[in-house]
Amino acid sequence: MYDAIIIGTGPAGATAARCTAAAGLDTLIVEKEILPRVKICGGALSEYALSNLGIRLPHSLIERECFGARIRYGISSLESETRERLSVMVSRDRLDHHLTMLAVDAGAELMEGVRVRSVHTDGDCAIVETTKGIFRSKVVIGADGVNSVCAKNVRPSFTPQEINFALEAEIPASNERIDEYILNKGEFHFGVVPREYGWVFPKDGHFSVGIATKIMGFSRPMDAYRTFIKGLGFDYVKPSGHFLPVGGIDRKTYANRILLVGDAAGFVDAFLGEGMAYAIASGNLAAETVIDACQNDDFSQGSLSSYHKRCMNSFLPNLKYSYIFSKIFYRYPDLSFRILVNNEPVLNKFIHLATGSLGYLSLMKWITTHLPYYAATFMWK
Ligand SMILES: Cc1cc2nc3c(=O)[nH]c(=O)nc-3n(C[C@H](O)[C@H](O)[C@H](O)COP(=O)(O)OP(=O)(O)OC[C@H]3O[C@@H](n4cnc5c(N)ncnc54)[C@H](O)[C@@H]3O)c2cc1C
Repeated sequence: MYDAIIIGTGPAGATAARCTAAAGLDTLIVEKEILPRVKICGGALSEYALSNLGIRLPHSLIERECFGARIRYGISSLESETRERLSVMVSRDRLDHHLTMLAVDAGAELMEGVRVRSVHTDGDCAIVETTKGIFRSKVVIGADGVNSVCAKNVRPSFTPQEINFALEAEIPASNERIDEYILNKGEFHFGVVPREYGWVFPKDGHFSVGIATKIMGFSRPMDAYRTFIKGLGFDYVKPSGHFLPVGGIDRKTYANRILLVGDAAGFVDAFLGEGMAYAIASGNLAAETVIDACQNDDFSQGSLSSYHKRCMNSFLPNLKYSYIFSKIFYRYPDLSFRILVNNEPVLNKFIHLATGSLGYLSLMKWITTHLPYYAATFMWK
């Protein structure tokens, strides 16, 4: 019997597995794909995410470093540059493979190309049924993403209101063309889809171009994507789509012998769609909880509830405020977009969300104190 079985090799699962294996726990990672596998993602890994990772990424994984943002709404555009780095751009196949290999180096056993069919628990262990047989462990960490099999044991399925849909394609471009277009900034387009945004991120030899949107009340994302690409003047490349949960909603994250991390737990910033930072943070906290549970030989729901407390002490309040911010922002979209693209100080504050030095609550407080001034500038324009 394993101490811990971890399902999924995204940033959440790979991080959790590295930490449990490094602590000497007998760890098995089960991944349905063969690594390196494709993962649809913008690949913006924020400084906050990097600080959660707690290890230095090899330079070869970093395709670009970002020191600013450009925000666009209609014909308005505003740019801001920072001295400190805001994020690095990575390709998820390579990042996730690297993080998983670190877990293997730390002593975890990896089973690739093996799909988990179900997870259940009896008094003595968790039982993981896969396409290659049944495996037992003291505890299971469900890091199997938005369509988590493991989550069925913990919480109700995400409702359509709790899910966003994103489309992304890699648009080939020379690095000179990328430098000329955007160099070292992320570009965010508001108003191109209802209640979310489009992005253009600079990578090595291509742009990551995507849109994210609510699935409720928006039936033609492919048409919106096509229009977005055409407006940018880029060649059309057929995008791939994937769901992502809306974070900041109170959900259960643990049950007897089971913990959920990353997208499986719904840990995504509701406004920006950033998920890797919270996947990594929750992977760390789940591993800490499992290490304690192994020491105390207590895998009950009561013992594992300390995981939720750890998340509350770390990032859950920020996710809650990102949800509230998103609701307010999209309640008055035209006013919000115009304030954002017309006032550099607002954008300067906003981009510091990526560093973790500013949270959504502080951002909202700051905007509230400055709102009369910025609303007035909006009226005059
Ligand atoms: C289009 C798009 C763009 C995004 N851009 C960004 C961005 O720029 N920056 C950012 O921070 N976040 C971004 N996100 C969000 C981010 O991708 C996710 O939040 C993040 O990948 C969550 O990591 P995870 O480890 O929880 O799950 P995942 O990365 O989804 O990993 C889950 C793993 O579990 C495996 N798995 C699933 N089911 C099973 C099973 N039954 N058995 C075995 N294995 C299984 C999968 O193959 C996968 O390897 C984006 C999301 C989308 C959809």
